[in-house]
Amino acid sequence: MSRVAVVGAGTMGNGIAHVFAQAGWDTVLIDVAADPLARALKTIQKNLERLVKKGAVTAQVSADTLGRIETSTSFDAVKNADFVVEAATENPEIKFQIFEDLDRLAPPVTILASNTSSISITQIAAQTKRPAEVIGMHFMNPVPVMPLVEVVRGLQTSDETTSKVVEVAKQLGKTPVEVNDAPGFVSNRVLMPMINEAIFCVQEGVGTPEAIDQVMKLGMNHPLGPLALADLIGLDVCLAIMEVLQNGLGDDKYRPAPLLKKMVAAGRLGRKSGQGFYAYRD
Ligand code: NAD
Repeated sequence: MSRVAVVGAGTMGNGIAHVFAQAGWDTVLIDVAADPLARALKTIQKNLERLVKKGAVTAQVSADTLGRIETSTSFDAVKNADFVVEAATENPEIKFQIFEDLDRLAPPVTILASNTSSISITQIAAQTKRPAEVIGMHFMNPVPVMPLVEVVRGLQTSDETTSKVVEVAKQLGKTPVEVNDAPGFVSNRVLMPMINEAIFCVQEGVGTPEAIDQVMKLGMNHPLGPLALADLIGLDVCLAIMEVLQNGLGDDKYRPAPLLKKMVAAGRLGRKSGQGFYAYRD
């Protein structure tokens, strides 16, 4: 395998294209429009420049990495891909349509991986005629920095597909961890209820956001408090994942905190809107 197509050139797609290209893969980055592709290339270039400055990679590696990345606004670019990673907008209708198209266009043996945070891999796989070759490859943000890849097996994912994806993740310098498809997988099933509980603590006046974050940082050795992390992830994303957990698992313990819903309704989404549990300039 040597040619990868990455579908979706946003926050995650640019990072995924970067790590594949740096590991020597010919990479095509696909999006619906030219703008996100141009932004993604700029981001990759900036991130590579930073790595060169830090001495983490040579100028030659940086140039070679950029040289391996092409962009396209057409799905025809998956026709000669050995491997596909989808990192498009987190919306089931969009993903289902993309997987139908990928299944039609990509070579029959090509593995189709999704970077979804919360949509069922089993359901995504069911949109294709190759459910055994569909799998979750859940990278963490920022992709070039974070070592984990949560490898998510759908109900019909084959052992062969799983072991190939584990190998690919290792080749990218990541640490793959295999889990089964379930709402939120392991990462968000464990992380989001903690964040949600921290929000309940703010709502009930148990502590200020600063106090809650300090308890978790200094007492539990978390590098970032849960509320600062929620601001970083985006409160709308946190709410959407809590809803997936609540609907998928049917247990009241996953009900989103009313304060979380209120903040999202008010447009206080965290860093990206300039205001969440903390205020951000720029
Ligand atoms: P984003 O909004 O930054 O980027 C999504 C990109 O997909 C956009 O550029 C958009 O134009 C493109 N897109 C939409 N429809 C498309 C289509 N039909 N074909 C091709 N491209 C299309 O989103 P993101 O944060 O990069 O998230 C992408 C995926 O990664 C989601 O499934 C998300 O759940 C998952 N994820 C995100 C994070 C994170 O921290 N942001 C972490 C892990 C996983």
